[in-house]
Amino acid sequence: MLRIDDHNRFAAGFTYVYPVLSRRAGGVSVGINLNPNNACNWACLYCQVDNLQRGGPPPIDLAQLIKELASLLDALLAGAFVVAGGQAAALADIAFSGNGESTAAAEFAPAVQAVCALMQERKLEVPLRLITNGSFLHRPGVQEGLRHIAAQGGEVWFKFDRGSSDEIATVNAIAWPLERAVAHLAQCAALAPTWVQTCWFCLDGAPPSAESLAAYCAALQPLAAKLQGVHLYGLARPSQQAAAPRLSALSAEALEAVAAVIRKETGLKVIVSP
Ligand code: SF4
Repeated sequence: MLRIDDHNRFAAGFTYVYPVLSRRAGGVSVGINLNPNNACNWACLYCQVDNLQRGGPPPIDLAQLIKELASLLDALLAGAFVVAGGQAAALADIAFSGNGESTAAAEFAPAVQAVCALMQERKLEVPLRLITNGSFLHRPGVQEGLRHIAAQGGEVWFKFDRGSSDEIATVNAIAWPLERAVAHLAQCAALAPTWVQTCWFCLDGAPPSAESLAAYCAALQPLAAKLQGVHLYGLARPSQQAAAPRLSALSAEALEAVAAVIRKETGLKVIVSP
């Protein structure tokens, strides 16, 4: 039986797809991993990818990806995954969520297109999601992939952790100017329904400062009308990076207080997952 919150990418023995039994999603979330080499262009302090390397994905075998996805969906339909109580778990969503940045793959757009085609063929009416750090939004192929996601009725969860270039450099370990992060977020929201995804935590024992939260709200507020909302995360799953000992979770109350400030300052809907 697949445990709730078992996020082992290789639980089903595949290269490109993995099942996650998710209490929050209310069933099995099928993940698509275009980064089987655990390589990302960022190195977020809180990243849960074991053995994370800096880099990009290898060439993707699209035929294998679709074959694996079809097999996993078959297994799911046949009742291979059960929830507590013994009932067969339902498919909750399909998400491009890799052990690295999905949109870094040269095959990103064809991969999205192929997954959409399979979903249409099987009449799957679950959401299709992309979890992304948004740093490749300038690529035409990524924009094309986002158009396919939008046409499928899907959505993007766009990583946007802090509201200043310095803090982005610290938290995401990337020289990524705030202006570019904001421009890419705006571009993403123009192409597909977009949620912001943000991780807040204490660093070296210190919670995010009031200035940090104010800068974050100031960066998002001008885009608020174009965004679906914010998913605010804590450290539910431990960081697998060298910085892990420097991180500690905010209390659920503290995270709620952060959410309240974001709602008040930006008008955005905020969903909290401590
Ligand atoms: S962008 Fe995602 S995969 Fe890449 S380092 Fe950050 S959390 Fe990990």
